[in-house]
Order: sequence, then C-alpha cells, then structure tokens
Amino acid sequence: MRIVVALGGNALLHRGEHPDADVQIANIDRVATAIAALAIDHEIVLTHGNGPQIGLLAVESATDPALSAPYPFDLLGAQTQGMIGSLLLRALYDILPGHRIAALVTHTVVRPDDPAFLRPTKFVGQVYPQDVAGTLARKFGWRVAEDTTGWRRVVASPAPQRIVETDTIHELLTCRTLVICGGGGGVPVIADADTGALSGAEAVVDKDLTAALLAEDLKADFLLVLTDVPNVYAHYGTPHQQPLHDATPSSLRRGHFAAGSMGPKTEAAARFVERTGGLAAIGALDAAYEMLHGRAGTLVRPDLPVTG
Ligand code: ADP
Ligand code: MG
Repeated sequence: MRIVVALGGNALLHRGEHPDADVQIANIDRVATAIAALAIDHEIVLTHGNGPQIGLLAVESATDPALSAPYPFDLLGAQTQGMIGSLLLRALYDILPGHRIAALVTHTVVRPDDPAFLRPTKFVGQVYPQDVAGTLARKFGWRVAEDTTGWRRVVASPAPQRIVETDTIHELLTCRTLVICGGGGGVPVIADADTGALSGAEAVVDKDLTAALLAEDLKADFLLVLTDVPNVYAHYGTPHQQPLHDATPSSLRRGHFAAGSMGPKTEAAARFVERTGGLAAIGALDAAYEMLHGRAGTLVRPDLPVTG
C-alpha cells in the first residue's frame, strides 16, 4: 500500500516539555520505531507538524536584538522542515538499514484572498497563562487564543491548494524512496497570477490538510494521522466523552471538532476518504501499525452509497 502519514508536531515535543534539541532527539526514536514498522511492507510519505518548533523560532526571532524585524513565517517554516526532516531521516536511516530515505523542503501554494488570513486559528509555540499571553500579544502584536490547556499564539492557516513538488515526490516513491515532506504543512507560498513566481505567505498551513492533499495527489491508499490521543472522541472533554472507533466522512462532518487541533484531522480524513474511496485512521503514534489493520484508533471508511 501507499500510505501518507501525518505526524503530530507534539510527537517530537510533548506538551509541557522543554523545547531543547536533546528532548526532540530523545523523542525521535519512538517516532522512528512506529514508522519503521510500516515502512517494511509499504510505500511511505511522511509529513509532520511543526507547531511547537515554529513557535519557538518565532519567539526567538521576535526577541533577537540583532534583527530589525522578525523572520516571516514562511522562512521559519522552511527552517523547521529542515530540522525536523533531518532528525526524522537520521533516526529512520538507523532503524531501516538499506532503505532509501529523502527529506525534502516542500512548498504549498495558498490563495492570497483566503479568508483564513483574517481569522487566525493555527496554534503555535508554548502554552501561557492568560495574563502572560495578553502581555506578549500587546508587546509583539500577536493574536492569541485559548487552547485545551492554556493560551497560545495563533497564526493564519490558509487552505493548501497545491504542493509544488508533488511530481518529484511521486518520482521518488516510484524508485522506492521513503519521502519526508510537507512538514509543517509545507512552506506557504503565493503564486503570482501572471508569472507563477512564488513568494512567501505569513501563515502556517495545517499539516493534516496538506497530508490529505498529498495523499489524494499521490493516489495513496491510506491516510494515517498520528497524534497524542488514541482516538477521536465524541463530546471530548465532557463527562460524556466517548471514543469513536468507526467513522465515515458524513459522520465526522456531523460532529463538531475543535478548530486548530482535532478539526483539521477529521476534515483531512473525511476529505481524503470522500474524494478517493481510500481509508484513513486517526490515533496514537505507538498504535500506528495496529491502526493500519483496523485494530486501534478511529478508522474512517467511505460512506455507503445511497441506493433507491
Ligand atoms: P498534533 O500535534 O498531533 O496535530 P493537536 O494538538 O493539533 O496535535 O491535536 C491533538 C489534540 O486534539 C489532542 O491532544 C486533544 O487534546 C485535542 N482534541 C480536541 N478535540 C478532540 C476530540 N474530539 N477527540 C480527541 N482529541 C481532541
Ligand atoms: Mg495539530
């Protein structure tokens, strides 16, 4: 099978952990073990999040006295793709001897008039108490919003329209290369309407939606969304919380899932399954192999066709 894996940024930096390089290096082995179990029998395209990492770079950039302006988010996104791609590649290289592996810096075209530019939803960086978040927002002109465990910076997350390197990724797959790409949703770029020239966009594209687009374009059989919860839950965070083991695009669309966290995952899974008839699953990193076999996570299959 051809599988597109969307790995949560939280897999490398768990909530509340220090964002040190050593911590990420220590966490990468667990990721590599989970991915390697899939890569032995399947073609793998690995995308990953970058929320914690890009948030850290953004704070550093905003507070660096050597800079007259912080680096824009497209360039910070490129930096995180390089770093996380390299970490993943080294860990996989070690555990999959003889395998071809490539980490590509890839670009995702977004629309300049996407309404998301006016309504930031994508969480980046650390969790702060409300008053600290408010102070930072005033000091640096950030937008902040409440996440599950506190307040975080939010940035615009326009919808991915096209991945610039799709054909290259396809070529690499056909010569049996495990491809790490689309990290952090891809470097967000706007294509000039006349010349096609690419320029950076101040945004972070959602990696789950980019993964769905990649999976569709690459004619993948399975979209595997790996995160830090074992399932999608109905009534999440309430006394009536219940794991969803089976779902379809229409059942997911009837649920209401949090923007910026579970919402994009259910939307990505629903879109991919609806458009291709393939399968998707959402669940925990360590259960990746089990999820592929329908034994863990939330499995998303096509809706039955309406008859009569
Ligand atoms: P990732 O880095 O994997 O993209 P996110 O924080 O974006 O992680 O999304 C995973 C988080 O979504 C979970 O840790 C959980 O707190 C949150 N979440 C929100 N709604 C739900 C839900 N309905 N079911 C499960 N998790 C949910
Ligand atoms: Mg996320």
